[in-house]
Order: sequence, then structure tokens, then C-alpha cells
Amino acid sequence: MKKSGTTTASGPWIKRPDSGGDKIFRWRILFLFVTWIVLFAGANRLGAEQARPDPVIIIAVDTLRADRLGCYGYPRPTSPELDALAEKSVLFTRCFTPSPLTTPAFASLLTSMPPHRHGAKRNGLPIFPKVETLTDLLKARGYRTGAFISSWPLKAKLSGLDRGFDTYEEVFDKKRWLGTINPEGRAPTVNERVFEWLDRCEDEPFFLWVHYSEPHAPYLHHEEFDFDYNRWNKKLYHPDSDFSDMRNYDTEVGFVDHHIGRLIDRLGKDGLFDRAIVVFMSDHGESFGEHGERGHGRKLFNATLHVPLMVKLPRDRRAGTRMQHEVSLEDVAPTLLELLGLDRPDWMIGRDLFIPEAGRAIFSEAYKGAVHFRRGRYYHHKVEPIAYSLVQAGEKLMLSPRNHRYRFFDWIHDPLEKRNLYLKRKSRLGAWQRLLKGYVERVEDYIQISKQLVREPGSMSEEDMEKLKTLGYF
Ligand SMILES: [Zn+2]
Repeated sequence: MKKSGTTTASGPWIKRPDSGGDKIFRWRILFLFVTWIVLFAGANRLGAEQARPDPVIIIAVDTLRADRLGCYGYPRPTSPELDALAEKSVLFTRCFTPSPLTTPAFASLLTSMPPHRHGAKRNGLPIFPKVETLTDLLKARGYRTGAFISSWPLKAKLSGLDRGFDTYEEVFDKKRWLGTINPEGRAPTVNERVFEWLDRCEDEPFFLWVHYSEPHAPYLHHEEFDFDYNRWNKKLYHPDSDFSDMRNYDTEVGFVDHHIGRLIDRLGKDGLFDRAIVVFMSDHGESFGEHGERGHGRKLFNATLHVPLMVKLPRDRRAGTRMQHEVSLEDVAPTLLELLGLDRPDWMIGRDLFIPEAGRAIFSEAYKGAVHFRRGRYYHHKVEPIAYSLVQAGEKLMLSPRNHRYRFFDWIHDPLEKRNLYLKRKSRLGAWQRLLKGYVERVEDYIQISKQLVREPGSMSEEDMEKLKTLGYF
């Protein structure tokens, strides 16, 4: 008799422990389990990446003219590293500084206010005590904050720009004047300190400001970055330029560009550069004798007013874009807050860099270089601009308030500003003059109340005065 159990046991509907069907079933379960683990882990990683705020890095080169960089059209190979950065960034072709002087310009960068509002109107004058900065806002959001600065006017006690920074390192190892005075730091030393800091905080959200001061006067000559001086096309430069100074200046640009390349290499480790928002900028340019000016600070010609600005977004977004509308360094802080999804405070006057605004007016103001006497509570009351400018749609109106002298330039067609068109265009400049006059009145009103904003008098030491003097600010 045939046992039904045998037939039943061998039928396809019964899963025996060692049957082929059971193996398939077990493999399916295993497959589903592994898939679930992989998806779960992947989702967690993605979530962690999305939740991790992008690092924010500002790379600043002091005294760097926009028109000395290849990515801004310079024919000499001064800037291969910055040109490569431009290929990954959004480059702003028309960026202007609110003031062509170190402390006022960087204070405007970090506060999104013009100098008469934040108070750091001259080198040696700090921002007003109650002024908040981008750094304060990011620190309150949990960012680790670090700054590495290399020029005496940015010293914490002279500028007040250490506000909100966990680390504010002053690097002054560059010897000047027969090795007796060190008012600046060298790019390789700045990098060294930055790399040490990065080693300590790579995995955290951070805000890092790296400041180099190589092209600042007095210019050193770096032989390895000297670019065939005999083949210079002198038509590219203003006829009053000092070519000897410019030759050394270009080697300084090449030198600092090389070390920025080393910084970017370091940031490339672990994908940090890729996921960071990187801003590259300069605080002002430099004059080499054009318009009777050497250095920077007191005049508002484009040699010192026009600055490079690039923003590299995370993961190559908008890489290689060029934006042609007029912008200001005051726009950087509110744009960063926008990119990070944070609210911008009302006191920031800058706009979003990425939203062009037709006919926008960009104002700048110039003061004397550095304070050279002890300052007190009522000092701000006495510091007034010695020049104003208004840039709009490729043209510029300038005013010297002391002698009420105006100048007008079409700088798109006359980039070296050799032709003052004021007399020729005077009858059509009524709206320009009213706009600039309105700005001047606002500045004067604010200066009248500024003595109430400074409660504690500060003072300049003999050493401060000596260091600022060596940088040409007196
Ligand atoms: Zn500067």
C-alpha cells in the first residue's frame, strides 16, 4: 500500500528543509533584509548630509586689483589657481568696495553696512560696540568660527572684527624695513595656521575667514613669478603708472595665487571644498600713480574701487557662471545667509548677489588712511568722507565734497577712467546728482549721531602707529 504521506511529503506544496524551493525562499528573505539594511543606511547617510550645514569659507587677498587676474581678463599668467577657482564659481564682473581701505572694507563685508554706519571709517577705528556681524549670526547658529588675518589694521583691538570668532589669529611674521618691523603675515604661514585649525574641526559646521596680504605695499619681488616684463603691452595700463612697482606687484599676485592653490588642495581633502560655500574677494585694489594716487584709500577711481568677487557654491552648482550686474561687498553677508536658509536681519543693507537689479545704485565713501592720534568718545563725530562715488549701469559719478568737484566716467568704454565726461554730460546728470546728494546727507546725519554710539574711548599705542605708518597709511 502506497503511503499517502510519501506522495504528500514530496508534493510541491510542502516545503522540506532541504528542498530547492526552501533555498529560494531563504535567499529571497536574505535579499530583502540586505536591501532594507542598505536602503536604511543610505537614507540615514543622505539625511545626515542634508542636515549638515555647508561650511562657509571666505578667502580674501588684501589690495588685489580685479584687472590683475586672468579670470578678469588680464593677459599675464598671474593667477592660474584663481582662474581655476573661477571655473567652479559664479564670478561677479562688476563688484565695488564700499571703501577702498582695509578695516572699513572688511567691516562692510562682515556687517553689510557702509562705513559711516558700522563705525570703522578709518584704519585704527573699530566698529561701533553694538554692531552685529555675520560671524555673530553664524556662531549663534552653532558654527565654529575662525579667522586668520595678516595685516595690522585688522588687529582685534584696532578693528573690533574679532567679534563672534572663537579663534582670531593674528599672523605677523613678514619682516619689513630691514627686518625691524612686522606689520603683515606671509601667505605660507597663514596657510600653516589655517591647516592646523582645519585639522581640529573638519567635521563641524564652520565659518572660516582666511586673509592674505601679499600684494600690499611695499611690494616684494618674487623671481619665480616674474612674467617676461619686456613683453608687457603698455597700452593696457594707465600712462601715469609706475611699471617697476607694477612688475613687483604682479609677482606678489603670482605668489599669493600659488599659496591659495595650496589652501584649495587642503580643502579638497575629504570633499570639504566640494561641499563648502567659498567666497573669494579683495577689500580694495591699488593705484600705481594713476590720477595722482599711489596706494589706496583716499580716492575712488576703479583702480582701487573695483574688486574681484567669486562665490563657489556646493557641489559645482552654477559653476563657471559670470554675472555682469553691479554688486557691492555689502551684498556678501546677506547672500550667505540666504544660501544657508537663515533669516537676514533688517540692519543689513546689502542685496542678494544672485538677483540682478536693473539700475541699482552702488555708493562708496573714502576717508583719510589711518587715525594717527589717540581717539576718544567724540572722535567719530569729526571723521567725515573726503570723497563719494555712485556707480550705476557702467557709469560713475564722483564727488569731492571739500571743493564740490564732480567727475563722471563711462568706465565700461573707458576702464582706466582717462576721460572725465562731467562737463560734457552735466546737463543730463541732475538725477545722478540728486541721488548722490541724498546719500551725502544721510552720511552727514549719521555722523552727527555717531558720538552717541561710542561709549568707551579707545586708544592707539605707539606700536600701532608705527606699524600703520610702515603700511603707508599716514
Ligand atoms: Zn586692505
